[in-house]
Amino acid sequence: MQALPPTERSASPSWPVEAGELQLEAALQLLARAGQPFPPELQPGSITWLQFIVDGLCNLSSRDPLTGLVNRRQFESALDREIDRVARAGETALLLILDIDFFKRVNDNHGHGVGDVVIQTIGRALQECVRPMDTVARIGGEEFAVVLPNCMPTFALAVAERIRKRIESTRIEVPGHDPLVVTVSIGGAFAPQWVRSSRHLWLERSDRQLYRAKNEGRNRCCLETHALPDVSAEERGLLLGSFTSLAEDAAAAPP
Ligand code: GH3
Ligand code: MG
Ligand code: MG
Repeated sequence: MQALPPTERSASPSWPVEAGELQLEAALQLLARAGQPFPPELQPGSITWLQFIVDGLCNLSSRDPLTGLVNRRQFESALDREIDRVARAGETALLLILDIDFFKRVNDNHGHGVGDVVIQTIGRALQECVRPMDTVARIGGEEFAVVLPNCMPTFALAVAERIRKRIESTRIEVPGHDPLVVTVSIGGAFAPQWVRSSRHLWLERSDRQLYRAKNEGRNRCCLETHALPDVSAEERGLLLGSFTSLAEDAAAAPP
């Protein structure tokens, strides 16, 4: 349905929409199942009631149901926002990708339910050891990511190590079992400053470091060594492309 232009909207006597005409059963059931009960003071059919439903659905579509962390979709938006900020302001931003080591063994030895408890506990531990401005996401089965805006390269390894040690020292309480301990491998890379890169390339560089951490023995952090890493051919193209267009703009400008 096409949105009405503002003038027609305000002139229309039937605007705003009658909430009773909307098919909201599926949305209401989803919210109820997700444990988001309606505050009793909200009048069904009122605009605040409708807003509560819309906000609840937005929240559901951006969170991972097992951990409550940001999901892959929302994480990708956070990456795009950060790339934009780094390109505009030149601040450094770090992306860490974490993968639980030998997690398949947890499932094999203790069952999938215990595996889920491990994932939830690691998610909480991660959330607790970063700044409020950082984004912690679950981006795959036993894979997490942390986007750290404004993170100085000199502190990056200490930050990653702090997270790794926090996980290593977390005792995971599981009913009927002795507490479990797992470790994570962490790979990290910076968004290249002053270049409007892509989230795909940033992720790829962090992933490369994660694979290095796995190959070098796990339970360790591997980071790109410089805030301005060896940029890929594609990033170099973006960088030189912007210089070229600046030069072209200057040449085309009237004297
Ligand atoms: P590595 O150190 O190389 O990362 O080894 P790994 O065993 O952690 O990696 P692998 O990819 O072999 O196994 C990951 C396992 O994670 C397999 C999959 O069944 C399990 N998994 C993925 N998502 C979930 C989930 O939501 N809950 C549980 N319990 N297990 C999951
Ligand atoms: Mg994995
Ligand atoms: Mg793993």
